[in-house]
Amino acid sequence: MVVATFGTLSLVLSGITLATKSPLHARDDACAALATVLPQDVALPSTTAFTQSSSYWSQQQLETQPQCFVTPKSTKDVSTIMEVLTKGNFPFTVKGGGHIPFAGGSSIENGVTIDMVHLNDIKVSSDQQTVSIGPGNRWINVTETLDPLGLSVVGGRDMNVGVSGLLLGGGISYFSGQYGWACDNVRRYEVVLASGRVVYASPSENKDLYWALRGGGGLNFGIVTRFEIVAFKQGKIWENALSFPGSSNATVINAFQNLTARGFPADKAASGFVGINYHGSTGGYSTDVGLLHATVPSTGEGLPAVFRPFQRIPSATANSTVTADVSTFLKNFATPYGRRWTWGNVVVSASFSNKFLAEILSLYETRNVGLFKTQGEDDITPTALFQPIPLNVLEAMQKNGGNAMGLKPSNGPLVLISFPMSWANPQNDDLAYGATRKLIADVEEKAKKYKVYTPFVYLNYADAKQEVQKGYGKENYERLQKIARKYDPQGKLARLWKGYFKLDR
Ligand SMILES: Cc1cc2nc3c(=O)[nH]c(=O)nc-3n(C[C@H](O)[C@H](O)[C@H](O)COP(=O)(O)OP(=O)(O)OC[C@H]3O[C@@H](n4cnc5c(N)ncnc54)[C@H](O)[C@@H]3O)c2cc1C
Repeated sequence: MVVATFGTLSLVLSGITLATKSPLHARDDACAALATVLPQDVALPSTTAFTQSSSYWSQQQLETQPQCFVTPKSTKDVSTIMEVLTKGNFPFTVKGGGHIPFAGGSSIENGVTIDMVHLNDIKVSSDQQTVSIGPGNRWINVTETLDPLGLSVVGGRDMNVGVSGLLLGGGISYFSGQYGWACDNVRRYEVVLASGRVVYASPSENKDLYWALRGGGGLNFGIVTRFEIVAFKQGKIWENALSFPGSSNATVINAFQNLTARGFPADKAASGFVGINYHGSTGGYSTDVGLLHATVPSTGEGLPAVFRPFQRIPSATANSTVTADVSTFLKNFATPYGRRWTWGNVVVSASFSNKFLAEILSLYETRNVGLFKTQGEDDITPTALFQPIPLNVLEAMQKNGGNAMGLKPSNGPLVLISFPMSWANPQNDDLAYGATRKLIADVEEKAKKYKVYTPFVYLNYADAKQEVQKGYGKENYERLQKIARKYDPQGKLARLWKGYFKLDR
């Protein structure tokens, strides 16, 4: 780690005395103050440490550069950093795995980024019932620790995604059918509040905070410095990957609707998704299906019964199965860095009609055609991704008093439709955002028209402008606001922690 060197002013922050000598420009105050208390852990631009911390999945985040990164090595360091920043009224953000796509999601200009990368220990409890995970881990670190022990957790499906953001926003996993979303399986959080105080949240300690951290958006409440999550016995997992022409989309999605409504609740170890993907090389679409099972079918059993209807759909252009440990799946699913990205989502009743499907796919294709025309030579790659929220997942979300997202079995079964898209040319950013926001608004309108609309928006796939927590219902929204006020009475995080999906204060 490169040591930052500073001159400057004097700052006294209750218990922390910062004494430096020559004047610095005001914009450097936060970095100067942090370097006084953690001199080894502040990285300024043009240093190796700064470059290392600047690793983000999307280009827009990468290009949003802070005045400095600070990289705590302990909960105590995080507490010290929080105290310096909130007492000095310095703007900041927090980076876990850096996978939110939008500029400023976990990056900042004119401020400090707290990079949690060094809080990366992983400890399995002696009874193997829980795993304590530092917030700087990526999911691959977790699975590579657990696979050899024959254990797993409800976690991410891409190796590089951060533990922090996925757990705080929800967390759709290969194992969600059995256990709910990842956040539903956190037993205890260690949290540094705006004041710098360290508290714990669990079903028996600070229960309100425990509820809020399961989907309420971490940046409204505090910096999580440790997640204790439920572990379970797990061997290899299994996938059947199928591809069909774009023209088969309705048949495939009808089968997926059946799977969501009936198949998944009957076989909780099953999960899956459908993507309608555009291919620039052929100028056409494919309908790609991933059908996963947490138990490997025995020899002679063939495919799990729940997935057999997909074998009867004609004209598959690819049909393969793979059995591997969880880490191998995470590596296979890794989406490369280095592109510009946007996304957003709409959640609808799984009972939607073919007419609704045809109209929203037509909106999706129209948005794409518009972008292909206006984006010139840019290599745009759009997807419409369908993921299930079946009754078994909604039931599992009710454990430990339910999470902040407010979904109930009576709301389901549901299908989450998201629209991730990547491109290369920064000049096309506004076009891509504008067209995708319009697409989301149009799909919501169609959902209302066909009476399949829900106000729920999934935080981890949301567009920066979607009002996520308002979709959790008025009661939950107001409860979240009250909890944020209780743990951050001066509204410091509301003002200073820059990012998206913030509660109104
Ligand atoms: C390629 C890819 C694959 C994905 N796969 C899945 C998937 O399988 N299932 C799923 O549900 N989602 C998935 N997602 C979405 C993913 O869950 C979100 O993008 C998530 O926010 C990423 O977490 P992160 O720590 O990497 O993000 P970051 O960008 O580092 O952080 C996200 C948010 O959390 C805040 N934060 C970070 N650390 C902390 C902390 N310690 N305490 C409090 N707040 C903190 C940040 O300030 C920011 O607001 C995927 C995303 C990508 C890009």
